[in-house]
Amino acid sequence: NLKRTPTTHHFPMTKSLLPIQSRNVAVIGAGAAGLIAARELRREGHRVVVLEKNNRIGGTWVYTPRVESDPLGVDPNRAVIHTSLYSSLRTNLPREVMGFTDYPFTARDDGSGDPRRFPGHAEVLRYLEEFVSEFGIDEMVRFESEVVNVGLMENNKWKVKSKLRNVDGDCDEIYDAVVVCNGHYTEPRIAEIPELSLCAAVKMFTMFLISLAAFTFLGIDVWPGKQMHSHNYRVPEPFRNQVIILVGSSASAVDICRDLAGVAKEVHLVSRSVADGTYEKQPGFDNMWLHSMIESAHDNGAVVFRNGHTVHADVILHCTGYKYHFPFLETNGIVTMDDNRVGPLYKHVFPPVLAPWLSFVGLPWKVIPFPLCEYQSKWIAGVLSGQIVLPSQEEMMEDTKAFYSTLEASGTPKRYTHNMGDYQFDYDNWLAEQCGYLGVEGWRKQMYNAVSKNRLTRPETYRDEWDDHHLILQAQEDFIKYTS
Ligand code: FAD
Repeated sequence: NLKRTPTTHHFPMTKSLLPIQSRNVAVIGAGAAGLIAARELRREGHRVVVLEKNNRIGGTWVYTPRVESDPLGVDPNRAVIHTSLYSSLRTNLPREVMGFTDYPFTARDDGSGDPRRFPGHAEVLRYLEEFVSEFGIDEMVRFESEVVNVGLMENNKWKVKSKLRNVDGDCDEIYDAVVVCNGHYTEPRIAEIPELSLCAAVKMFTMFLISLAAFTFLGIDVWPGKQMHSHNYRVPEPFRNQVIILVGSSASAVDICRDLAGVAKEVHLVSRSVADGTYEKQPGFDNMWLHSMIESAHDNGAVVFRNGHTVHADVILHCTGYKYHFPFLETNGIVTMDDNRVGPLYKHVFPPVLAPWLSFVGLPWKVIPFPLCEYQSKWIAGVLSGQIVLPSQEEMMEDTKAFYSTLEASGTPKRYTHNMGDYQFDYDNWLAEQCGYLGVEGWRKQMYNAVSKNRLTRPETYRDEWDDHHLILQAQEDFIKYTS
């Protein structure tokens, strides 16, 4: 039921007969998503300003040793640090699949930089910086401009209020369209909020909300040890000889527990996806154990697990993920956040009622983010220029509701709405088709699957040992058309 006019730009499949409309577009954020959005929007003839609160591009990939004043990251008055990177981080995707489709993330011929297939974070930042200079994207970026308010005006345009760092007063501007690319790995999601300063009612309400969350346990508000979120983890050294409980089993948890095991006295992993009796020493480590969930925490520092074991810990490190957070966005309730579902959004991008004037790039997770953002950006650019026609508001809303019903029917919690996993390539291909592009390369899909398997079979060494040599060759052959 999707009406479509293929774009006339880049690998056109059919020529559109519609005139190209050029819009004034604000892009919020100059991370990978904002950068590719800016490139695609300008390619399509739009006038683009990228508002970036930091003083450089790269978003998540701008590592800093600094951490926030509140290690749990729940104090609303804390000075927010955007990145959640830790010093030792190497990518968990191979560089061949990670890069934008027409700007491969290849190692340098002269061997400079970090040539590894799963490089350290600095190499990713360098790639994004080179991408920016290759396409002259920095001309569009206004640095140290934090967007503090985005509101819809009566004439259906957007008023965007931003604050320049170290400058008094706000800057108000009017745009036809806003593309939100502010990232979603900054605002911690945690098990408990031990905020003793909260008034009782607020606290009770908070506890009620928290009791709905995935990780809860009694007594955490009297437990005397240090609690922090992985957002504020940088290096293992401060944890030398300590006993650490690490809650969660995300990609960060898997890396950070290994980082810590090198210096800590003991590392106790807590996973909600194991049976209650679970107590397992981790293969290859003499100081790391896997436990079932925490049952209770006590004022003498003891933490009791559901498997019956007790540990006296110094630190509980919450690797429990992040929340979508758009503190600047005012849509009169049209776009809401419900248990980490940003909605209603047609295909994770357009709120039907506000389409195409408001859009989001990069919300899906368990994906290959850069190319996915690229396909989303091409779609948004084409829709804004009038080259691609969206279905009616009602049709988009129907489609979105049907998607939510499918999730509900399969028992998928709302917080997994933007978790794509298996269907990311179908999604990418759908977007590509809207834009008249070829979809995801066969090798990229196969390599992603091969790496996912390798990660399971070789959790300690998957970044340095692999069997998919034939796919690397295919990727390199494919890249020649962009690099020669
Ligand atoms: P971000 O990179 O977060 O950029 C958002 C930008 O918006 C930032 O520059 C921020 O300063 C700016 N901003 C925010 N709010 C405002 C505002 N109000 N006003 C102005 N500017 C604002 N991806 C991979 O492909 N491979 C990996 O190996 C990988 N590993 C990861 C490891 C960790 C620990 C994390 C947290 C993420 C990892 N990712 C990985 C995913 C990563 O988030 C994406 O690769 C990508 O960086 C997302 O880009 P983004 O532009 O959506 O968000």
